[in-house]
Amino acid sequence: KGKKLPASSNSPECVKVVVRCRPLSKGEMSDGKKSTVNIDTKRGQIAIKNPKLDEKEPAKQFTFDIVYNWNTEQITLYQETASPIVDSCLEGYNGTIFCYGQTGTGKTFTMEGDLSDDKTKGIIPNAFDHVFRAIETSQDDKKFLVRASFLEIYNEEVRDLLSKNSANTKLELKENVDTGVYVKNLTSFVVKGVSEIRNVLAVGKKNRTVGTTLMNRDSSRSHSIFTIVIECSETVNQESGDSKIRVGKLNLVDLAGSERQSKTGATGERLKEATKINLSLSALGNVISALVDGRSGHIPYRDSKLTRLLQDSLGGNTKTVMVANIGPADYNYDETMSTLRYANRAK
Ligand code: ADP
Ligand code: MG
Repeated sequence: KGKKLPASSNSPECVKVVVRCRPLSKGEMSDGKKSTVNIDTKRGQIAIKNPKLDEKEPAKQFTFDIVYNWNTEQITLYQETASPIVDSCLEGYNGTIFCYGQTGTGKTFTMEGDLSDDKTKGIIPNAFDHVFRAIETSQDDKKFLVRASFLEIYNEEVRDLLSKNSANTKLELKENVDTGVYVKNLTSFVVKGVSEIRNVLAVGKKNRTVGTTLMNRDSSRSHSIFTIVIECSETVNQESGDSKIRVGKLNLVDLAGSERQSKTGATGERLKEATKINLSLSALGNVISALVDGRSGHIPYRDSKLTRLLQDSLGGNTKTVMVANIGPADYNYDETMSTLRYANRAK
């Protein structure tokens, strides 16, 4: 049975939805592709025109917490959307950041970006810096322990990206009365600083590439979750040495591509795979919209591995941000609309 959440838990403020539109790529520009979206960052509005309709037809309008256009800097997005969640994880709360969208719209750019460049590094490396900067500058009565794990969900199967034989080992989700849902035998490393946690990321990325090649898969078909667990023990009574311990968990999720599979004419295994992706993305959408709605007592966490795994970090005293990534080009109109509708339902 799912954990009971306090009555105040489903407060809408705990879920934030932002949209980020990437620029037209060089290829799209040289192919003469047109942009169908218009962004008003001040109002948080996005207007999109159906390229199949007459020019004079009105654009469809959407409003979100924040919309980012093609020239938004990584650090701006980090500070406005990710940083508050990382702060609350440092204080012992759980939080989750998702990137959702069609393949090629900038999910990985947003989540990871260019790891070797300060200006274009994404949420994950910025979060690493943030966490360890906060720890270094914290008061002496606080002691921190940081652990990192990295997994992938492919075809509703969980794989450990930090284990050498990740490709061959499916991990099980287990449930414990005290600790809730967890992944049995998942590797987790204690990390003492930015270079160590970056190393964990690098190892996982490498294993992911090896695994996808070995099994002839495409990484855009799987969800990846990088998790940072921050434990803080604070001395509350100098004389007795009594301390209190708080544990916060931060999940950084690069979701599988949301594109419809009918377009790619998938059959057999590929179609089965696609059905599972659609299932888990719609399960996530259902969970988030139930949380936002606040009235439904039942949150359908159990409908997919993804939502079960993230159960303790969605709803309750947690913070969630969904970054919906879109491309501006006319030929992406249908996918872009579908992403905007998904995001709209989640807010
Ligand atoms: P996804 O992970 O959603 O499949 P990627 O993150 O791989 O998409 O992005 C596809 C391409 O677009 C990459 O070459 C990436 O560098 C580029 N890109 C994505 N978003 C931006 C952006 N905001 N600014 C500049 N380039 C971007
Ligand atoms: Mg990607």
